[in-house]
Amino acid sequence: MRRGPVTLVEITRIALRLGFRPGTAAILLAFYLGSTFFEALGLTMLVPVFQFVQRDGDVAALIAENRYWEYLVSVYRVAGVPITLATLLVAAFTCVLARTLFMYARVLYTAVVREKLLWSVRNLAFQRYLGTMSGYAEHELSGGMVNDLTTELDRLIYALFSIVTLAGLCLTLLLYVALLLALSLPTTIAAVVILGLAGASLRGLWRKTQSASYRVTDANQSMAGFLVERLKALRLIRLSGTEPAEAAVMGRLTGRQRDNMVRLAALMARLDVIVEPAVVALGLVFLYLAVGAFDLSLEEIGLFLVVVLRLLPVVKEALRTRQSMIGSIGSIWAVDNRLRAMEAAREPAGGRVEFARLAKAIRFDHVSFAYDDGAAPALDDISLEIPAGAVTAVVGPSGAGKSTLIDLLPRLRDPTAGRISFDGRPIEDFSLETLRRGIAYAPQSPQVFSVTIADHIRYGRPGASDADIREAARLAEADGFIGQLGDGYDTLLGEGGVGLSGGQRQRLDLSRALVRKAPILILDEPTSNLDADAEEAFRAALERIRRETDMTIIVVGHRLSTVAIADQIVIMEAGRVSDTGSPTELLARGGWYASALAKQPGPVNIGADPDPAEDVNWKKTNIGRAG
Ligand code: ADP
Repeated sequence: MRRGPVTLVEITRIALRLGFRPGTAAILLAFYLGSTFFEALGLTMLVPVFQFVQRDGDVAALIAENRYWEYLVSVYRVAGVPITLATLLVAAFTCVLARTLFMYARVLYTAVVREKLLWSVRNLAFQRYLGTMSGYAEHELSGGMVNDLTTELDRLIYALFSIVTLAGLCLTLLLYVALLLALSLPTTIAAVVILGLAGASLRGLWRKTQSASYRVTDANQSMAGFLVERLKALRLIRLSGTEPAEAAVMGRLTGRQRDNMVRLAALMARLDVIVEPAVVALGLVFLYLAVGAFDLSLEEIGLFLVVVLRLLPVVKEALRTRQSMIGSIGSIWAVDNRLRAMEAAREPAGGRVEFARLAKAIRFDHVSFAYDDGAAPALDDISLEIPAGAVTAVVGPSGAGKSTLIDLLPRLRDPTAGRISFDGRPIEDFSLETLRRGIAYAPQSPQVFSVTIADHIRYGRPGASDADIREAARLAEADGFIGQLGDGYDTLLGEGGVGLSGGQRQRLDLSRALVRKAPILILDEPTSNLDADAEEAFRAALERIRRETDMTIIVVGHRLSTVAIADQIVIMEAGRVSDTGSPTELLARGGWYASALAKQPGPVNIGADPDPAEDVNWKKTNIGRAG
């Protein structure tokens, strides 16, 4: 992971990578310059005002004394305004007004572009996350991701805009120094020397601020990682009675956040302690030199003081901005590292061929897969054929590699050796988008968002009509219980689908998979969490789907009663296919299937001959046209 001190060049590079446009910086700087220019002009206007008062308005004498009065007079002449005390004051006030307008524009523009950048980076990060390979998300704590996209990103964007603020402040500083120079060279040199010394004394503070920043980011990350994980495991925590222990860990993690934030704030406050006295000393030295050594006139001393008084807050502000930029270093690296890692873990886009239907078969030829380099392969030299339009069940003990095998079909993972083909065409030829559109998937534990029943089903195919939704629910044997719910298809599902039984959720989710009308349907251990009745209902749904559609169905499971309706059963053990055949063949052969079947209770209906389809409409017209 990249870390370390961050130079202005580096921040600028990161800013450009995130989409911060140089044009935006230029506009912001222009606003800065505008306001600074008018501020300086307003202040400078005080000199002629003083002189005008001193000479009792004798413009001819003023022109004789100071050459710039000539310019002033000609400017007033062009404007067609007489020079009076009032018009001089109005001019000074106009400058103040112009400065305020520029400041207002800058604040407004900053808000707009900052929020826009925040918005676009956050969306970019989320899109990249969605586009990463499966392995990436599996190795990352989702809490860390949440933290990076919220807290750290906010701090990062703030820091990026600080660069512009800093540049603007430096320009202001330069302008003031130029103004001072015009008044008196030696005093300016003295000022610059004092400021330089004050700046050098801050190096230690910068270093401490930087390490405090990293600690803040680390503490945020740990807390968010812990929190998100525990939010998902509330049931387990309650049932294990580990609330006090979890609360104690949370207390420790949030305590670390608190302490680190306090430390960072203390370091920020220390800046004032160092800078404030230096600044006052500077003012006094100025005054002393101006009066004692350099023999300046009263109005010049007045202006000098005003400039110095304006200059000092600018110096302080510049230092503070620099410090808060350093204080955000942890966030800068965290977000930048996150975006780079996600980019590096991006899924391949696949080929150009559109996957629309499966006519013959899916073939695995000597396919192997290992999760990590050096790990024992989860799949070891698998060769197998999954015929189109039939039900293939993949069974075997836990850890045999069944889920890994089906992850290869939508290319959630790619084989480390061997090849997979659809109707003879290598899987890599198909575009990832159409391949995934062509595979409907119902997982073991359905994910249910807090939406209505209809919306959940429609998640399978946005744009599906109400009729499609009802038809999918009917096919999944879900329309019966949906009809009995208070609001039918408009019933709102709670977070996590509270309110439905395990079996109902499973069939609801099956409806979602079916509404896709994809040529391939994968069901991952669909009945492993269900009781006998629910399992029977699911089995009925599966039989209906088989009867009424020509989908290629792949059922993964170790509940043998459900898979007994399959046309072909593939038995996996320790990453290898140990046997393949129809249920009757396998039973006759003895072996793992026969003995596992004997051990497992439940309705078994081997070799059942399904009724011929009554409703062939779905079969002939709908399926096979991917979503
Ligand atoms: P099954 O679905 O038959 O229970 P899996 O395909 O889930 O089997 O697992 C096969 C093997 O791969 C097991 O040894 C398991 O520990 C390992 N495995 C599964 N998922 C991962 C993963 N995300 N990272 C590393 N190893 C994994």
